[in-house]
Amino acid sequence: ERVVTSGADDLERAAEAALRPRALADFVGQATVRDQLSLVLHAALGRGVPPDHVLLSGPPGLGKTTLAMIIAGELGTSFRVTSGPAIQHAGDLAAVLSSLEEGEVLFIDEIHRLARPAEELLYVAMEDFRVDVVVGKGPGASAIPLTLPPFTVVGATTRAGLLPAPLRDRFGFTGHLDFYAAGELERVLVRSAGLLGVRLDADAAAEIASRSRGTPRIANRLLRRVRDWAQVRGDGGLDLRAARAALEVYEVDALGLDRLDRGVLEALCTRFGGGPVGLSTLAVSVGEEPDTVETVAEPYLVREGLMGRTPRGRVATPAAWTHLGLTPPQPDGL
Ligand code: ADP
Repeated sequence: ERVVTSGADDLERAAEAALRPRALADFVGQATVRDQLSLVLHAALGRGVPPDHVLLSGPPGLGKTTLAMIIAGELGTSFRVTSGPAIQHAGDLAAVLSSLEEGEVLFIDEIHRLARPAEELLYVAMEDFRVDVVVGKGPGASAIPLTLPPFTVVGATTRAGLLPAPLRDRFGFTGHLDFYAAGELERVLVRSAGLLGVRLDADAAAEIASRSRGTPRIANRLLRRVRDWAQVRGDGGLDLRAARAALEVYEVDALGLDRLDRGVLEALCTRFGGGPVGLSTLAVSVGEEPDTVETVAEPYLVREGLMGRTPRGRVATPAAWTHLGLTPPQPDGL
Protein backbone atom coordinates (compact mmCIF):
# COMPACT_ATOMS: atom_id res chain seq x y z
CA GLU A 1 0.00 0.00 0.00
CA ARG A 2 2.94 2.31 0.61
CA VAL A 3 3.56 2.34 -3.11
CA VAL A 4 1.00 5.06 -3.60
CA THR A 5 1.11 7.22 -0.48
CA SER A 6 2.58 10.65 -1.03
CA GLY A 7 4.81 10.80 2.08
CA ALA A 8 8.31 9.31 2.32
CA ASP A 9 10.10 7.38 5.05
CA ASP A 10 13.84 7.35 5.79
CA LEU A 11 14.69 4.50 3.45
CA GLU A 12 12.87 6.17 0.64
CA ARG A 13 14.57 9.48 1.39
CA ALA A 14 17.85 7.76 0.56
CA ALA A 15 16.51 6.44 -2.77
CA GLU A 16 15.14 9.91 -3.52
CA ALA A 17 18.38 11.69 -2.78
CA ALA A 18 19.93 10.15 -5.87
CA LEU A 19 17.16 11.51 -8.10
CA ARG A 20 16.93 15.02 -6.69
CA PRO A 21 17.69 17.78 -9.16
CA ARG A 22 20.52 19.98 -7.83
CA ALA A 23 20.09 23.08 -9.98
CA LEU A 24 17.07 25.23 -10.68
CA ALA A 25 17.51 24.48 -14.39
CA ASP A 26 17.03 20.73 -13.74
CA PHE A 27 13.87 21.26 -11.70
CA VAL A 28 11.00 20.19 -13.96
CA GLY A 29 7.75 22.17 -14.18
CA GLN A 30 6.45 24.81 -11.71
CA ALA A 31 7.57 27.45 -14.21
CA THR A 32 6.12 30.39 -12.28
CA VAL A 33 7.69 29.56 -8.94
CA ARG A 34 10.97 28.67 -10.61
CA ASP A 35 11.11 31.97 -12.46
CA GLN A 36 10.18 34.04 -9.40
CA LEU A 37 12.67 32.21 -7.24
CA SER A 38 15.40 32.62 -9.82
CA LEU A 39 14.91 36.40 -9.64
CA VAL A 40 14.98 36.45 -5.84
CA LEU A 41 18.19 34.41 -5.78
CA HIS A 42 20.02 36.27 -8.51
CA ALA A 43 19.11 39.65 -7.05
CA ALA A 44 20.44 38.57 -3.64
CA LEU A 45 23.60 37.14 -5.19
CA GLY A 46 24.12 40.37 -7.09
CA ARG A 47 23.80 42.42 -3.92
CA GLY A 48 25.93 39.99 -1.94
CA VAL A 49 23.37 39.52 0.82
CA PRO A 50 21.24 36.53 1.87
CA PRO A 51 17.82 36.57 0.14
CA ASP A 52 14.51 37.11 1.91
CA HIS A 53 13.01 34.18 3.75
CA VAL A 54 11.11 31.82 1.45
CA LEU A 55 7.90 29.96 2.17
CA LEU A 56 6.99 26.99 -0.03
CA SER A 57 3.53 25.54 0.19
CA GLY A 58 1.86 22.60 -1.46
CA PRO A 59 0.94 18.94 -0.97
CA PRO A 60 3.62 16.34 -0.09
CA GLY A 61 6.03 15.07 -2.74
CA LEU A 62 5.84 18.08 -5.08
CA GLY A 63 9.41 19.27 -4.56
CA LYS A 64 9.50 21.61 -1.53
CA THR A 65 12.58 19.98 0.04
CA THR A 66 14.21 19.73 -3.37
CA LEU A 67 13.70 23.45 -4.01
CA ALA A 68 15.05 24.34 -0.57
CA MET A 69 18.23 22.37 -1.33
CA ILE A 70 18.47 24.01 -4.73
CA ILE A 71 18.22 27.44 -3.07
CA ALA A 72 21.21 26.63 -0.88
CA GLY A 73 23.06 25.18 -3.86
CA GLU A 74 22.43 28.21 -6.07
CA LEU A 75 23.57 30.50 -3.27
CA GLY A 76 26.63 28.34 -2.69
CA THR A 77 25.89 28.06 1.03
CA SER A 78 25.27 25.12 3.29
CA PHE A 79 21.90 23.66 4.08
CA ARG A 80 20.54 22.84 7.53
CA VAL A 81 17.34 20.88 8.10
CA THR A 82 14.83 20.72 10.88
CA SER A 83 11.07 20.38 11.12
CA GLY A 84 8.15 21.71 13.12
CA PRO A 85 7.44 18.42 14.91
CA ALA A 86 11.17 17.86 15.67
CA ILE A 87 11.33 21.05 17.70
CA GLN A 88 9.75 20.32 21.05
CA HIS A 89 10.84 23.41 22.95
CA ALA A 90 11.70 26.97 21.99
CA GLY A 91 15.17 26.22 23.41
CA ASP A 92 15.75 23.55 20.74
CA LEU A 93 15.12 26.15 18.07
CA ALA A 94 17.29 28.74 19.85
CA ALA A 95 20.14 26.21 19.78
CA VAL A 96 19.72 25.61 16.05
CA LEU A 97 19.50 29.32 15.28
CA SER A 98 22.49 30.31 17.38
CA SER A 99 24.65 27.75 15.59
CA LEU A 100 23.85 29.13 12.11
CA GLU A 101 26.64 30.65 10.10
CA GLU A 102 26.31 33.72 7.94
CA GLY A 103 24.22 33.16 4.82
CA GLU A 104 23.20 29.61 5.67
CA VAL A 105 19.86 28.22 4.57
CA LEU A 106 17.75 26.77 7.37
CA PHE A 107 15.02 24.50 6.03
CA ILE A 108 12.06 24.03 8.38
CA ASP A 109 9.75 21.32 7.09
CA GLU A 110 6.14 21.24 8.31
CA ILE A 111 6.64 24.69 9.73
CA HIS A 112 2.92 24.96 10.54
CA ARG A 113 3.47 22.34 13.23
CA LEU A 114 5.89 24.41 15.32
CA ALA A 115 4.75 24.92 18.90
CA ARG A 116 3.65 28.45 19.73
CA PRO A 117 6.70 29.50 21.84
CA ALA A 118 9.09 28.27 19.14
CA GLU A 119 7.07 30.09 16.52
CA GLU A 120 7.33 33.37 18.43
CA LEU A 121 11.05 32.93 18.87
CA LEU A 122 11.36 32.20 15.15
CA TYR A 123 9.69 35.31 13.91
CA VAL A 124 11.81 37.55 16.09
CA ALA A 125 14.89 35.74 14.77
CA MET A 126 13.70 36.08 11.17
CA GLU A 127 12.92 39.77 11.52
CA ASP A 128 15.69 41.06 13.77
CA PHE A 129 18.31 38.28 13.54
CA ARG A 130 18.27 37.98 17.29
CA VAL A 131 17.37 35.29 19.83
CA ASP A 132 16.90 35.70 23.53
CA VAL A 133 18.77 32.94 25.27
CA VAL A 134 17.21 32.24 28.67
CA VAL A 135 19.74 31.53 31.38
CA GLY A 136 18.69 30.00 34.69
CA LYS A 137 15.26 29.00 35.92
CA GLY A 138 12.36 30.51 37.85
CA PRO A 139 12.41 34.09 39.21
CA GLY A 140 16.19 34.35 38.80
CA ALA A 141 16.11 33.54 35.08
CA SER A 142 17.27 36.20 32.68
CA ALA A 143 17.20 36.57 28.93
CA ILE A 144 20.42 37.38 27.17
CA PRO A 145 19.92 38.75 23.67
CA LEU A 146 22.16 37.12 21.13
CA THR A 147 22.71 38.66 17.71
CA LEU A 148 22.65 36.21 14.80
CA PRO A 149 24.43 36.56 11.48
CA PRO A 150 21.99 37.03 8.56
CA PHE A 151 20.57 33.74 7.26
CA THR A 152 17.64 32.56 5.17
CA VAL A 153 14.76 30.46 6.43
CA VAL A 154 13.06 28.26 3.87
CA GLY A 155 9.80 27.04 5.38
CA ALA A 156 7.69 24.25 3.90
CA THR A 157 4.05 23.71 4.66
CA THR A 158 1.25 21.68 3.18
CA ARG A 159 -0.93 24.75 3.43
CA ALA A 160 0.20 28.34 3.87
CA GLY A 161 -3.21 29.21 5.32
CA LEU A 162 -2.37 27.17 8.43
CA LEU A 163 0.41 29.56 9.41
CA PRO A 164 -0.39 32.37 11.80
CA ALA A 165 -0.23 35.75 10.07
CA PRO A 166 2.75 37.14 12.06
CA LEU A 167 4.89 34.20 10.96
CA ARG A 168 3.59 34.21 7.39
CA ASP A 169 4.39 37.92 7.12
CA ARG A 170 8.09 37.30 7.84
CA PHE A 171 8.50 35.53 4.50
CA GLY A 172 9.47 37.88 1.68
CA PHE A 173 8.57 35.32 -0.96
CA THR A 174 5.90 32.63 -0.97
CA GLY A 175 5.78 30.03 -3.71
CA HIS A 176 2.88 27.67 -4.13
CA LEU A 177 3.60 24.31 -5.75
CA ASP A 178 0.78 22.71 -7.68
CA PHE A 179 0.25 19.16 -8.94
CA TYR A 180 2.26 18.39 -12.07
CA ALA A 181 0.78 17.83 -15.50
CA ALA A 182 1.31 14.37 -17.00
CA GLY A 183 3.78 15.75 -19.55
CA GLU A 184 5.91 17.23 -16.77
CA LEU A 185 5.91 13.95 -14.87
CA GLU A 186 7.07 12.23 -18.05
CA ARG A 187 10.05 14.56 -18.08
CA VAL A 188 10.75 13.77 -14.42
CA LEU A 189 10.61 10.05 -15.28
CA VAL A 190 12.87 10.30 -18.31
CA ARG A 191 15.42 12.22 -16.26
CA SER A 192 15.23 9.69 -13.40
CA ALA A 193 15.51 6.70 -15.75
CA GLY A 194 18.67 8.28 -17.16
CA LEU A 195 20.14 8.63 -13.67
CA LEU A 196 19.19 5.03 -12.82
CA GLY A 197 20.73 3.87 -16.08
CA VAL A 198 17.60 2.11 -17.36
CA ARG A 199 15.87 2.26 -20.74
CA LEU A 200 12.39 3.75 -20.44
CA ASP A 201 10.07 3.66 -23.46
CA ALA A 202 8.02 6.79 -24.16
CA ASP A 203 4.67 4.97 -23.88
CA ALA A 204 5.75 3.41 -20.58
CA ALA A 205 6.71 6.85 -19.26
CA ALA A 206 3.30 8.18 -20.28
CA GLU A 207 1.56 5.28 -18.55
CA ILE A 208 3.46 5.75 -15.29
CA ALA A 209 3.02 9.55 -15.41
CA SER A 210 -0.74 9.28 -15.83
CA ARG A 211 -0.99 7.18 -12.67
CA SER A 212 1.32 9.23 -10.46
CA ARG A 213 -1.29 11.48 -8.84
CA GLY A 214 0.40 14.59 -10.23
CA THR A 215 3.30 13.95 -7.83
CA PRO A 216 7.00 13.51 -8.73
CA ARG A 217 7.67 11.48 -5.58
CA ILE A 218 5.05 8.93 -6.65
CA ALA A 219 6.29 8.96 -10.26
CA ASN A 220 9.84 8.12 -9.12
CA ARG A 221 8.56 5.45 -6.75
CA LEU A 222 6.46 3.78 -9.44
CA LEU A 223 9.45 3.94 -11.77
CA ARG A 224 11.50 1.93 -9.25
CA ARG A 225 8.71 -0.66 -8.99
CA VAL A 226 8.48 -0.97 -12.78
CA ARG A 227 12.25 -1.38 -12.88
CA ASP A 228 11.92 -4.25 -10.34
CA TRP A 229 9.30 -5.93 -12.50
CA ALA A 230 11.36 -5.52 -15.66
CA GLN A 231 14.42 -6.97 -13.96
CA VAL A 232 12.69 -9.97 -12.36
CA ARG A 233 9.94 -10.85 -14.82
CA GLY A 234 10.82 -8.98 -18.00
CA ASP A 235 13.92 -8.42 -20.09
CA GLY A 236 15.17 -5.45 -18.07
CA GLY A 237 13.69 -2.85 -20.41
CA LEU A 238 10.96 -0.56 -19.08
CA ASP A 239 8.34 -0.93 -21.79
CA LEU A 240 4.58 -0.52 -21.72
CA ARG A 241 4.03 -4.18 -20.85
CA ALA A 242 6.35 -3.92 -17.83
CA ALA A 243 4.73 -0.66 -16.72
CA ARG A 244 1.19 -2.05 -16.91
CA ALA A 245 2.12 -5.34 -15.25
CA ALA A 246 3.97 -3.70 -12.37
CA LEU A 247 1.21 -1.15 -11.75
CA GLU A 248 -1.23 -4.06 -11.67
CA VAL A 249 0.87 -5.96 -9.13
CA TYR A 250 0.99 -2.90 -6.88
CA GLU A 251 -2.71 -2.17 -7.33
CA VAL A 252 -2.21 1.37 -8.51
CA ASP A 253 -5.55 2.42 -9.90
CA ALA A 254 -6.11 4.25 -13.17
CA LEU A 255 -5.98 7.65 -11.47
CA GLY A 256 -3.11 6.67 -9.17
CA LEU A 257 -5.20 7.39 -6.07
CA ASP A 258 -3.48 6.41 -2.84
CA ARG A 259 -4.85 4.51 0.12
CA LEU A 260 -5.99 7.67 1.90
CA ASP A 261 -7.63 9.12 -1.23
CA ARG A 262 -9.52 5.93 -1.87
CA GLY A 263 -10.49 5.56 1.80
CA VAL A 264 -11.90 9.08 1.86
CA LEU A 265 -13.88 8.57 -1.35
CA GLU A 266 -15.20 5.19 -0.25
CA ALA A 267 -16.30 6.53 3.13
CA LEU A 268 -17.94 9.51 1.46
CA CYS A 269 -19.92 7.31 -0.95
CA THR A 270 -20.71 4.22 1.08
CA ARG A 271 -21.10 5.60 4.61
CA PHE A 272 -22.46 9.05 3.97
CA GLY A 273 -24.43 8.47 0.80
CA GLY A 274 -22.15 10.83 -1.13
CA GLY A 275 -22.41 13.68 1.40
CA PRO A 276 -22.54 16.45 2.23
CA VAL A 277 -20.57 15.51 5.33
CA GLY A 278 -18.38 17.65 7.58
CA LEU A 279 -14.61 17.38 7.31
CA SER A 280 -14.09 16.15 10.88
CA THR A 281 -16.75 13.42 10.60
CA LEU A 282 -15.21 12.27 7.36
CA ALA A 283 -11.73 12.28 8.89
CA VAL A 284 -12.84 10.24 11.91
CA SER A 285 -14.41 7.65 9.63
CA VAL A 286 -11.05 7.03 7.89
CA GLY A 287 -9.06 7.25 11.14
CA GLU A 288 -7.10 10.36 10.15
CA GLU A 289 -6.63 13.89 11.41
CA PRO A 290 -8.91 16.43 9.68
CA ASP A 291 -5.76 18.35 8.77
CA THR A 292 -4.33 15.32 6.90
CA VAL A 293 -7.53 14.74 4.97
CA GLU A 294 -7.79 18.41 4.12
CA THR A 295 -4.19 19.01 3.08
CA VAL A 296 -3.10 15.63 1.69
CA ALA A 297 -6.10 13.86 0.16
CA GLU A 298 -8.55 16.61 -0.63
CA PRO A 299 -6.54 18.84 -2.99
CA TYR A 300 -6.01 16.03 -5.48
CA LEU A 301 -9.56 14.67 -5.21
CA VAL A 302 -10.98 18.14 -5.82
CA ARG A 303 -8.61 18.75 -8.69
CA GLU A 304 -9.58 15.47 -10.33
CA GLY A 305 -13.26 16.39 -10.03
CA LEU A 306 -14.01 13.50 -7.65
CA MET A 307 -14.93 15.55 -4.63
CA GLY A 308 -16.59 18.89 -4.13
CA ARG A 309 -16.56 21.31 -1.22
CA THR A 310 -19.87 22.94 -0.34
CA PRO A 311 -20.86 25.14 2.60
CA ARG A 312 -22.61 22.10 4.11
CA GLY A 313 -19.63 19.77 3.74
CA ARG A 314 -17.80 17.49 1.34
CA VAL A 315 -19.67 15.78 -1.49
CA ALA A 316 -18.78 12.98 -3.89
CA THR A 317 -19.24 13.84 -7.56
CA PRO A 318 -20.79 11.33 -10.01
CA ALA A 319 -17.22 10.67 -11.26
CA ALA A 320 -16.27 9.43 -7.78
CA TRP A 321 -19.02 6.83 -7.77
CA THR A 322 -18.09 5.72 -11.25
CA HIS A 323 -14.41 5.52 -10.36
CA LEU A 324 -15.20 3.27 -7.39
CA GLY A 325 -17.42 1.08 -9.58
CA LEU A 326 -20.56 2.20 -7.72
CA THR A 327 -23.86 3.56 -9.00
CA PRO A 328 -24.52 7.15 -7.99
CA PRO A 329 -27.82 7.60 -6.12
CA GLN A 330 -30.65 9.25 -8.06
CA PRO A 331 -31.61 12.66 -6.71
CA ASP A 332 -34.78 12.60 -4.56
CA GLY A 333 -38.07 13.04 -6.37
CA LEU A 334 -36.86 11.76 -9.74
P1 ADP B 1 8.33 17.57 -0.66
O1 ADP B 1 9.43 18.19 0.15
O2 ADP B 1 7.43 18.60 -1.30
O3 ADP B 1 7.54 16.52 0.06
P2 ADP B 1 10.53 16.49 -2.25
O4 ADP B 1 11.25 17.75 -2.57
O5 ADP B 1 11.10 15.65 -1.17
O6 ADP B 1 9.00 16.82 -1.93
O7 ADP B 1 10.41 15.67 -3.63
C1 ADP B 1 10.13 14.29 -3.66
C2 ADP B 1 10.90 13.62 -4.75
O8 ADP B 1 10.42 14.05 -6.01
C3 ADP B 1 12.39 13.89 -4.76
O9 ADP B 1 13.08 12.69 -4.95
C4 ADP B 1 12.65 14.76 -5.95
O10 ADP B 1 13.80 14.33 -6.61
C5 ADP B 1 11.47 14.53 -6.84
N1 ADP B 1 11.05 15.80 -7.42
C6 ADP B 1 10.22 16.70 -6.85
N2 ADP B 1 10.02 17.75 -7.64
C7 ADP B 1 10.73 17.53 -8.76
C8 ADP B 1 10.91 18.27 -9.99
N3 ADP B 1 10.28 19.43 -10.19
N4 ADP B 1 11.74 17.76 -10.90
C9 ADP B 1 12.33 16.57 -10.71
N5 ADP B 1 12.20 15.81 -9.59
C10 ADP B 1 11.40 16.28 -8.62
